[in-house]
Amino acid sequence: MAVKQFKAESKRLLDLMINSIYTHKEIFLRELISNASDAIDKLYFRSLTDDSVALKKKDFEIRLSPDKDKRTLVISDNGIGMTKEELEQNLGTIAKSGSLDFKQNNEANNKVDIIGQFGVGFYSAFMVASKVTVISRAFGTQEAWKWESKGAEGYTLTPCEKATAGTDIILVIKENEGDEHYDEYLDDWRLAEIVKKYSDYIRYPIKMLRTKSRMVEGTDKDADGNYKTPEYENYTEDETLNSMVPIWKRDKKKVSDEEYAEFYKQKFTDWSDPAKVIQSKTEGTATYNALLFIPSRAPFNYYTKEYEKGLQLYASGVLIMDRCADLLPDHFSFVKGLVDSQDLSLNISREMLQHDSQLKLIKTTLERKIKNELSAWLKNDREKYEEFFKNFGLQLKMGCYTGYGANKDQLQDLLLFHSGKENKYVTLREYVDAMPEEQKYIYYAAGESCEKLAKLPAAERVLSKGFDILYLTDDVDEFVLQMLREYDKKEFRNISGDDLGLESESEKEELKAQNEENKDLFAAMKEALGDKVSEVRLSQRLVSHPVCLSSSGPLSIEMEKVLNNMPT
Ligand code: ADP
Ligand code: MG
Repeated sequence: MAVKQFKAESKRLLDLMINSIYTHKEIFLRELISNASDAIDKLYFRSLTDDSVALKKKDFEIRLSPDKDKRTLVISDNGIGMTKEELEQNLGTIAKSGSLDFKQNNEANNKVDIIGQFGVGFYSAFMVASKVTVISRAFGTQEAWKWESKGAEGYTLTPCEKATAGTDIILVIKENEGDEHYDEYLDDWRLAEIVKKYSDYIRYPIKMLRTKSRMVEGTDKDADGNYKTPEYENYTEDETLNSMVPIWKRDKKKVSDEEYAEFYKQKFTDWSDPAKVIQSKTEGTATYNALLFIPSRAPFNYYTKEYEKGLQLYASGVLIMDRCADLLPDHFSFVKGLVDSQDLSLNISREMLQHDSQLKLIKTTLERKIKNELSAWLKNDREKYEEFFKNFGLQLKMGCYTGYGANKDQLQDLLLFHSGKENKYVTLREYVDAMPEEQKYIYYAAGESCEKLAKLPAAERVLSKGFDILYLTDDVDEFVLQMLREYDKKEFRNISGDDLGLESESEKEELKAQNEENKDLFAAMKEALGDKVSEVRLSQRLVSHPVCLSSSGPLSIEMEKVLNNMPT
């Protein structure tokens, strides 16, 4: 039988993975259980509209069967199953090539961060297993297929028998080797512990037949009628290991930060803990539970077209959509999480959902909630907010810009800019509050870096007046300010522009007179410089520098540069 090779990238990624990408080997169980749960979700959802699914909610289960003698651990589910093609597609290729390109181009990136971005959970089985066999029968088909692999060298795919739809994953657990212990993954007590730790909230029962022992009546009694030597007998009991209460339905005071973090990492494939957890329960016009997360770093594809925003959508605890884009505005597209509402109909279609007024209502309240949480964060934990802003601030700024000002009120107070006065970030509010009374405008300068901007002659002049300058270093910054136009009735002024409003009326008069006096000199200079400048004149913008370039018209020199660099 021919052994099929994994796709080239898969092979390398698999090597990487097995060589301890995950520091805790035990998480393989979490990954396999979560796949089983997803598969059941799919079939359960289908059962709501398809009578040929004879299973009811109570019939669905995930089962763990360890066998110490054979050194096997089987994880079974009666979910949707996989066809031959799906086995090949889902388990034959690990990640899209993009991930590896990314890694190659970013050697400095910690490898774990990349892995975390991808759904490669299944392969974690190879951390503890020397051989993995997947026997699967897709719902609605009669045939079953066996996928088998010993790791990086490849896999085989052969037809086999299976009585019902679903999947069995059979792991041959590795032998102990030096410091590495694998026996524990055959131990029912240890398995129960791992399930409790990582998979407690899974909404289907995770069952395991457990061997327990109980005291039985002996025969040997003492004078008082008590048994002298207690006797025990072993018996087996089918036990459900998880509590099955979804984490978002639990009282948030009773859920630890670790539990939220675990849930987030597992559900939304991230390696790092979330930077912020937002839990909200709303009753009234829109009744729903939402559990939202702000990642602690931007996914590597975040600022590309590949990134898809969206929240998981549940209707009364049943997953109906994995990525519902309609729940999030673009400027908050970095938010991950889920919404569970009892007001949504279960067999609602994607098209109907778009027009669902309930959904619109949820979106509006969520948006407000996120905004308020970000504002509170900015106020109460500045350091972490600044960290967040480094990751996702660009998205907020683009929201200001692309919304043509529509999101202005929501977003302008969430923005941070570099201050020219001190090496720190300021909000527009802070800038305006710190303005001396005689300052009329909000000054800004746009360029590559704060260091370069600080050297501008015009910056020296403005700062010397005791006025702060917003140093704009992102391409989009200046467009944002143009879109906002003003803040708290104070206009934005580029320090390389014409009128900085720094001079008094008499100073302006004096300048005009001096320009007039030296008219011939300037004309000669203009002639010498030719097309390179449109005008030469005296300026009061300078303190210690002899000359500076200044732009006229609506676009600054920097904006012109950005526009010239834009692909057409
Ligand atoms: P992810 O779960 O993030 O998609 P995995 O590597 O864990 O990535 O799984 C890859 C794919 O294999 C899944 O998306 C799913 O389509 C399929 N799969 C894995 N386990 C099962 C299962 N028990 N039943 C049905 N499909 C499964
Ligand atoms: Mg998975």
